Amino acid sequence: MAETKDKAGVPDTLIEPIEMSSLDSSFRDAIHSMPNGEELSACFACSTCTAACPIANQWDHKPHQLIRMIILGMRDEVLSSSEIWECLTCFQCQERCPQNVRVTDIFFDCKNLAAEAGKVPSSIVGLGKELLGKGQLYQVTADWEREDLELEPEVPGLSTDAVKLILKSTRTGKLAGDE
Ligand code: SF4
Ligand code: SF4
Repeated sequence: MAETKDKAGVPDTLIEPIEMSSLDSSFRDAIHSMPNGEELSACFACSTCTAACPIANQWDHKPHQLIRMIILGMRDEVLSSSEIWECLTCFQCQERCPQNVRVTDIFFDCKNLAAEAGKVPSSIVGLGKELLGKGQLYQVTADWEREDLELEPEVPGLSTDAVKLILKSTRTGKLAGDE
C-alpha cells in the first residue's frame, strides 16, 4: 500500500494494488481471536477513527487503513509499521468507533505480536533500557523548586528499585537485553 511517487502522469495519491498472494489470513484470525479483536470484522471502513486521531495526518497508514490491513491479513506491513509504536494511546479512535472496534487495544496486540517477532524499533528498545536502568523514563530535575520551598533536595522515600526489579522479570527485561 505504499504511495506511488515520481511516476510521470500518475497522481501522488494513487495507491499501488495490494499483492493478494502475500496476504496472511492467519494474522487476521489471530487478532480476531484475541479479546480485543471480537469486533474487528464489524469495521465498515468509515474512517471515523482516523478523523478522531490527533496524529493520523503524520502517518502514511491511517488508523482505519491499519484496521483494514489487519482484516486483509497484511501481517508484515502492520507489524513492521512505525505507526503502531507512534500511537499515543489516547483512545480517541476507540471511543468514537461506531462499530465498537477496539482500535487502540488492537494496536497494543499488534505491538505484542511485533515484539514476539523481534520487530521492536530500536528507539523503543532504548526506552526499555532507560526504564530498566533508572526505573523511570524522566527524572525530576526541579531540585531548585524544592529548595525554594525549603524542602530537602531528594524526595523522601522515593525509590525506583522495586520498579527496576519488576521490569527485569517482565518481557521488557528480555526485549531490552537485560542479562
Ligand atoms: S471508526 Fe471503527 S468502523 Fe470506522 S473505520 Fe475505524 S475501526 Fe472501522
Ligand atoms: S489511540 Fe493511537 S490511533 Fe487512536 S486516536 Fe489516539 S493516537 Fe490515534
